[in-house]
Amino acid sequence: MEFIPQIVFILIVGFFGFLIYRRVSQISKNIKLGKDVDLSDNKAERLKNMVLVAFGQKKMFKRPLPAFLHLLIYVGFVLINIEVLEIIIDGVFGTHRVAAPILGNFYSGMINFFEFLAVGVLFSCIVFLIRRSVLRINRFKKIEMVGWPSLDANLILIIEILLMMAILGMNGADQILQQRGTDHYTQVGSFFFSSTLFGWLSEFETGALILIERGAWWFHIVGIFAFALYVTYSKHLHIFLAFPNTYYSKISPKGKMENMNEITNEVKMMLGMPVEGDSAPPPEGMRFGAKDVNDLTWKNLMDAYSCTECGRCTSECPANLTGKKLSPRKIMMDTRDRLEDVGKNGLDDGKSLLGDYITKEEINACTNCNACVEACPVNINPLDIILQTRRYVAMEESAAPDSWNAMFQNVETNFAPWKFGVQDRFNWSNELKEGK
Ligand code: SF4
Ligand code: SF4
Repeated sequence: MEFIPQIVFILIVGFFGFLIYRRVSQISKNIKLGKDVDLSDNKAERLKNMVLVAFGQKKMFKRPLPAFLHLLIYVGFVLINIEVLEIIIDGVFGTHRVAAPILGNFYSGMINFFEFLAVGVLFSCIVFLIRRSVLRINRFKKIEMVGWPSLDANLILIIEILLMMAILGMNGADQILQQRGTDHYTQVGSFFFSSTLFGWLSEFETGALILIERGAWWFHIVGIFAFALYVTYSKHLHIFLAFPNTYYSKISPKGKMENMNEITNEVKMMLGMPVEGDSAPPPEGMRFGAKDVNDLTWKNLMDAYSCTECGRCTSECPANLTGKKLSPRKIMMDTRDRLEDVGKNGLDDGKSLLGDYITKEEINACTNCNACVEACPVNINPLDIILQTRRYVAMEESAAPDSWNAMFQNVETNFAPWKFGVQDRFNWSNELKEGK
């Protein structure tokens, strides 16, 4: 009987561990559906990007107040979870605050610091909840945020609030039990923030207090495991993916478009220019551009899983701001939704990213301004997906808008987007010479 809590604890750890492992494997398999692209160059620059943008949250600080609160949640989340190690050891071996005798006075200092962070996280989550639900910031109200995305954002804040309250409740009850000399509750000193709950907790008898302390302990640890699993299904996956995503983000100039080697070489050969690298013609059946997720690169797909749905991209997008259907955030959310569906049903389910999730109206509205890429706090590139789907429409379906087709034709015949021949290009200057 004495070992039942330990057995239950180990079973819970195993249960959540298995589900998390299965989900992470599925996400990794989904990302690997993307085309290969070699991003192993410029390691130092990539590392610098990751440290500044993911660890340092550099781009978040364009809006200092939310950035500070977000940083508080992020630091709190990372550091408070150090305590989880102790909780796991206690849970497996049936000990209580196993690290206290080893760390001595440092232990109570550490727990006090964790409590300070817990209060910071609590405060930040409440502010964010009010900001989302009461202030109703414009970018949180866009069409793609209706339903689950909004609920997901609020749920995660509520879960974090409950987890932080559980830490404070657990520590508060623990201290009173220590003061009463209850068996098993070793003296580990006082904790500042949770001692503010004494007025309420000291009303309880010892048996009820043990129930409160144990209840909060179990809620906290099971909550953390459940939270870790939930994160893999939610936009909060960015907590982990922000790091590889910023590391592998684009380091060439933002406006630089990637050409298709096969096409570049074909044009060069037509013009009698030397061809670099492989000059073989495009292989039979090769698809130009992207119709579905497997036509995108693994980095595009990792971008989709890393999106925090913050909407900073959409709030800067000139197409969206002028009432067009395009929202770069929706492009990322649609890509992730399609990827998830492909993971479950396979690629041959009669649907495709372009057409069933993202429409031509959306991609045609893009001005290629790069504002979304610049705004993204985790260096996601929605424009790349837009360009690749547009490339499919233009090259595979020949279904680009008429005005674009006319421009393509001009580029092909006149080497410029205008409709007059190259020999007439400077006619306008004749008028200047003639003083007209
Ligand atoms: S590049 Fe396109 S999607 Fe991105 S902000 Fe500009 S118009 Fe919007
Ligand atoms: S793409 Fe970036 S900026 Fe846009 S919603 Fe996702 S995380 Fe936010």
